[in-house]
Amino acid sequence: MSAVSKVAIVGGGVAGMVSAILLADGGVEVDVYEAKPEVTALGSGITLQGNALRVFDQVGIWERIQEQSYSFDEVSMRAPDPAGTVIASLTETRTGGPEYPATAGMYRPDLAKILAERALEVGARIHYGTTVTGLEQDADGVTLTTDAGDTSRVDLVIGADGLNSPTRSLIGIETKPERTGMGIWRAFVERPAEVTHTDLYYGGRCFIAGYCPTGENSIYAYLVEKAQDRTGLTPAESVEIMRDLAGSYGGPWQEIRDSLTESARVHYTLFTSHVVPDAWNRGRVVIIGDAAHSCPPTIAQGAAQASEDGLVLATMLLESDQLDQQFWDEFHARRIPRASHVVEASTTLGQWQLEGKRDGNVPALMGGVAQLVAVPA
Ligand SMILES: Cc1cc2nc3c(=O)[nH]c(=O)nc-3n(C[C@H](O)[C@H](O)[C@H](O)COP(=O)(O)OP(=O)(O)OC[C@H]3O[C@@H](n4cnc5c(N)ncnc54)[C@H](O)[C@@H]3O)c2cc1C
Repeated sequence: MSAVSKVAIVGGGVAGMVSAILLADGGVEVDVYEAKPEVTALGSGITLQGNALRVFDQVGIWERIQEQSYSFDEVSMRAPDPAGTVIASLTETRTGGPEYPATAGMYRPDLAKILAERALEVGARIHYGTTVTGLEQDADGVTLTTDAGDTSRVDLVIGADGLNSPTRSLIGIETKPERTGMGIWRAFVERPAEVTHTDLYYGGRCFIAGYCPTGENSIYAYLVEKAQDRTGLTPAESVEIMRDLAGSYGGPWQEIRDSLTESARVHYTLFTSHVVPDAWNRGRVVIIGDAAHSCPPTIAQGAAQASEDGLVLATMLLESDQLDQQFWDEFHARRIPRASHVVEASTTLGQWQLEGKRDGNVPALMGGVAQLVAVPA
């Protein structure tokens, strides 16, 4: 028995695809509307922590992810000195349980492709290049309209359409992402042989300099700085700025800097933070993932939390027989405190760096998040 038999999902990112896979696999008719024209758009890397890997196993894609990612259990802190001196090497918590590595790095478009393939395998329909422009609901369902003028009647609409969620606006939720004051340069380059796990350099010309292996031959490297208006730069100018900043770090950064060319897909993003503090639904429309909460990637939990939203929502829908207030109360009780804790910790970590606070207890903050997310969502 399921509370829904036909569901529309707006957005084919991690949150949308995890819910699509589970619902379609559970016998629900699922249509995913994705604005992008195709799944394999260019992108950078992503750090997936154990709790995300556990969810990916539950949706049947862990083996494929394992084949196309780079797993590790260690993180090192290095000094921003010319040698990149290793200050400490820590064994990370396996937040997904002992059967998954603490972390897997991978190329984002590969993850998107695996999720989409699995969604199609279990019978979900994906409509690329399509956005939802209208939602009209009554007690029994929602009628949605797409930008192509098509209409469809469904039991539930899941708005998994990311940071600037049009679904969030359509249902009148006003909370939205706020800039935190930091920006990040990211690039996708060849893996220096000595890079076998994430290294983090705190301080120097940037707040954080780091990298994460994503495969035998690749890593993504990042530099976090005070937010600046970096719009309007040519690709060559972006490369030049990232090379300049990278040049002040030691260790593998010298090799990384040399690989920063226009093929390294250098790009810049501003950090945001928000949590919709009360209900994520309005009647039969609900928002999940970055639409409902976002955090700076200082603890690399955004996609993990998005995947957990999709898992919890879909599992509850398959196990419940009606979409009543009790359903939503339980859903919010399972998701809002957990997502809020992660957002708060990730934002605080960034805030400490912006303020130059040196006595913030970083291990306690990160350890608290690891302990929390180690418990299945
Ligand atoms: C710089 C940076 C680095 C990050 N690094 C990490 C990391 O290492 N690890 C981690 O766990 N998290 C990381 N995150 C966070 C992570 O990327 C997000 O939390 C995660 O992608 C959210 O997934 P989502 O499915 O909610 O949204 P998204 O991945 O944004 O997916 C939303 C989808 O909706 C589509 N869409 C938007 N509007 C419409 C519309 N009108 N109609 C149809 N479709 C629409 C979009 O095209 C997109 O495909 C990082 C974030 C940033 C900004």
